Amino acid sequence: MKEYTRVFAEIDLDAVVFNIESMKKNLAPGTGLVGVVKADGYGHGSVPVARAIAPYVEAYAVATAEEALLLHRHGVRKPVLVLGPVHKSHYKSLAEHGIRPVIFTLEQAKELSKEAVRQKRTADFHLAVDTGMSRIGLDADETGAGLAVEICSLPGIRAEGIFTHFARADEEDKNWSDAQLACFLHFVKMLEERGLQIPVKHCANSAAIIDMPKTGLDWARAGISLYGMYPSGEVAKEAVPLQPVMRLKSFVTYVKEIAPGRPVSYGGTFVAEEPMRVATVPVGYGDGYPRNLSGRGFVLIRGQKAPILGRVCMDQLMVDVTRIADVGADTKVTLIGREGDNEIRVEDLAEWGGGFHYEIVCDIGKRVPRVYLRGNEAVGSKDYFEDVYPEF
Ligand SMILES: *Cc1c(COP(=O)(O)O)cnc(C)c1O
Repeated sequence: MKEYTRVFAEIDLDAVVFNIESMKKNLAPGTGLVGVVKADGYGHGSVPVARAIAPYVEAYAVATAEEALLLHRHGVRKPVLVLGPVHKSHYKSLAEHGIRPVIFTLEQAKELSKEAVRQKRTADFHLAVDTGMSRIGLDADETGAGLAVEICSLPGIRAEGIFTHFARADEEDKNWSDAQLACFLHFVKMLEERGLQIPVKHCANSAAIIDMPKTGLDWARAGISLYGMYPSGEVAKEAVPLQPVMRLKSFVTYVKEIAPGRPVSYGGTFVAEEPMRVATVPVGYGDGYPRNLSGRGFVLIRGQKAPILGRVCMDQLMVDVTRIADVGADTKVTLIGREGDNEIRVEDLAEWGGGFHYEIVCDIGKRVPRVYLRGNEAVGSKDYFEDVYPEF
C-alpha cells in the first residue's frame, strides 16, 4: 500500500458494516435494505462500500447510469437502481446489464420497451411516484394511475418496484411524511384495483429508517446513515447508533513563530495579538475542505484543538499551535476524526461553516486518496494521480 504524506481519507469499512447492522435492527425483519452509493458513495467510494455491505442488502441505488455501470464493471450482480432519470441513449447498456432505471413518463417507458424488445430481454424498472417532493415521478392521482397501467402494459418491460421519496422525513414533525406515506399507499391501492401488482414497494430514506421504521415496506434506501452520519439533528439518534466512517488526515509541513501585529493568510483577516506559533497544513478547498471554515473551527494535532487562522487557501491552511508542544514538519493532523478525547465530525464542520454534511463528504476531492480499512488494516486504496487524458 502506498504511504501518503500530504493528505488522505481513511474509510473505515467496519464502521459501514456496523451502521448497516444497526439500521437492520431498527427495521422489521421483512424489510430489505438498499445501499445508496450514489456520488461515489457520498465521496467514500461506491465500489468498496458496495462490497462491504453486500451480505446485508437486497439491492443498490445510484443516481446516474455511469455510476451503475461502474458497479457492474466491478462484479456487482444484485439489482442496481438508478434513482435519477437517465437519457434514453443509456437504455441500451442498462438493459444489457440488467440495471433498473426509473420510469415515470410514457416516453421513457416506450424507449425502454423498444430497446428491451430489440434485445429480446425483459427490462426491469422502478416506477417513481411524486407524493410531495416535486422532483420526479408520476402524479399520485387518477391520471397517474392510468399512465402506470399503460406503461406496464408495454412489451419487454416489467415494473419490479414502485417508490416515492420523502421531502421532510428528517424533521421532527412527521405530519408531512405521514401524508406522503398515505398518498403513496393509496396510489399503490389504486393500481391494485386496476389489476396492477408491483412486487417491491419502497419509500424510506435514512431519516425514515431511523424515525419511521414502519415506512420500511419491502425495501428501505439507506444513504447518509451508511456513512455514519445522521440526516439531521432532529432524528432520534439513540434508535440507530452510528459510527463515523471517513477520517481526513494530513501532516504539518512547516511551523513558524510570528510576532504580534502579523496577519495570516489572504486578506489578513486574522492578525496575531501575541507571539504565536503557526503550523501550515497542506490541505485546502482544492481538496474539498470547505473554505467557509476560514477563521472557524479547528483541526486536531497531538490530540489537541488547533484553531484555523484566517482564510483557508486552495492548497494550504494555517493553524494555531502556540499551546501545543512538539509540533514540527510531519506531525500528524486530523481534520476529520478522533484523537484521544477530542473528535471532529463532518457534522461539526458543517455547523462551524454553515455548510451541509452530505455536501462536505461528496466534495472531498480527487486530490485526496482514499485508504480502506478493515480490522484497522489497510485493505485497499484509491487515488486519481495516475488518471490520464488519452487525447492530450
Ligand atoms: C439520495 C436518496 C436516498 C438516500 O437518502 P439519505 O438521506 O442519504 O438516506 C434515498 N432515496 C432517494 C430517491 C435518493 O435520491
